[in-house]
Amino acid sequence: MATPKKMAPRDNGAPDFKKYLHPLMAKNYGKWKYHERLRPGVLVYVAESGDALYTVRAGSPRTMSVDTVRKVCDIADKYCQGYLRFTSRCNIEFSLSNKEAIDPLIQEIHDVLGFPVGGTGPSISNIIHTQGWLHCNLPGTDAAGAVKALMDTLFDDFVNERLPNRVKISTSCCQINCGGQSDIAINLQHHRPPKINHNKMQICELPKVVAICPVAAIRPRKVNDKDSLEVVEEKCMYCGACHGQCPSMEIRDPDADTLSIWVGGKSASTRSGPAFMKLATWGLPNNPPRWPEVSDAVGKILDAYRAGAKPYERIGEWIDRVGWKRFFEVTGFPFTKYHIDNYRHARTTFNTSSQVRL
Ligand code: SF4
Ligand code: SF4
Repeated sequence: MATPKKMAPRDNGAPDFKKYLHPLMAKNYGKWKYHERLRPGVLVYVAESGDALYTVRAGSPRTMSVDTVRKVCDIADKYCQGYLRFTSRCNIEFSLSNKEAIDPLIQEIHDVLGFPVGGTGPSISNIIHTQGWLHCNLPGTDAAGAVKALMDTLFDDFVNERLPNRVKISTSCCQINCGGQSDIAINLQHHRPPKINHNKMQICELPKVVAICPVAAIRPRKVNDKDSLEVVEEKCMYCGACHGQCPSMEIRDPDADTLSIWVGGKSASTRSGPAFMKLATWGLPNNPPRWPEVSDAVGKILDAYRAGAKPYERIGEWIDRVGWKRFFEVTGFPFTKYHIDNYRHARTTFNTSSQVRL
C-alpha cells in the first residue's frame, strides 16, 4: 500500500491572530481593566494582573515604499520586540511594555520616518483614502493626493486633542466610495452618463454590463451590425458601476466631474448607533494638486462643529441635535434640491410627508 503523502499545511482562511499579538496582550487577552490616554498619540492599557501595555500611534501615509516599511519594522524591533499593528485608518500603533522607551520611540518616529504622533481621543484620526490609481480602474480623482493636501491643513488637529469628539475623514475617488462611512467623507461625483466606445465593446461582457446597472438604464443595441449597448440617459444616475464592469463605458469626464462632501457617518455602535452619511455640499472643483476648495469646505465644517457641538458629540450627533437647517446656516453651504432624499428605492428614508423636513 502506498504511503499517504503528507499534506501541506492549510494556508487558506484568516491566520490565528493571537500569534501576532504583543506577549502582554496575548497574556491578558479579555482581562483588561481599563485604558486611558496619557497624551495625544499615547495610550496605556492596564490589565487585571497589573500589567501595563503602552501604544504609540503614528499617522502613516498609507501607501508606503518597501524601504519605509523596513524602517518601520526596524523601529518596532528596537523598541517594541517587533510588535506593531495597523489600525483601520492606517495609523501605525507601536506596542511596548517599557514606559521609559516611549519618548525615544516618538523621537525616532519623528526623525527617521517623519510621521506625526497623535490621532487619539477627540482629534482627527488619520484620513483614509481609497486605492485610487494604484489599484483600481475607476478613479476620477486622486484620493491619496487630496488626503495629503487636506492633512497638511489639519495637522494640528491630528497631534492635539481639542475637538468635541474624534473625527474620522475619508476620501474616495468615485461614488462607489470604498472609503466607507466617515464623519466627513469627500467623494467624486459624475454628472453625465457614460460615453460608449462601440468599437471597443467587449462582447462577452455585455450581459454583465446590462445586469450591473442598478436602475436598468442599459440595454442591448446593434451598432453597425455589431452587438453593443446603449444607455437610457433619463434613467442614468451617473453612478459609474457600468464603467467598473466595462472600460469601454467611460464615465469619467474631467470637465464635468466634481467633488462632494458628506457628513455624519459612523460605524461605531456607541450612543446613537451606526449612521450613514448625508450630503453637505457638492460641486466643488476637482482641482489638483492641492484641492483648496475641499480643504476650505472641510475647515468650515470643523469650525462649526468645534464651536457648536457638546463634548463627546460626533458630527452626525451634533447635526441631529441642532438640525440640518442650523447646519447649513453655520457652515454657509447652499441648500439645494439635491439635498432632498427622493431616491425611489429608499423606502426607509423617503420623505413621505407633504412638507420638506430639514
Ligand atoms: S473609490 Fe471607486 S475609484 Fe476609488 S478605489 Fe474605490 S472603487 Fe476605485
Ligand atoms: S452610470 Fe450607473 S446608472 Fe448610469 S448606466 Fe452606468 S450603471 Fe447605470
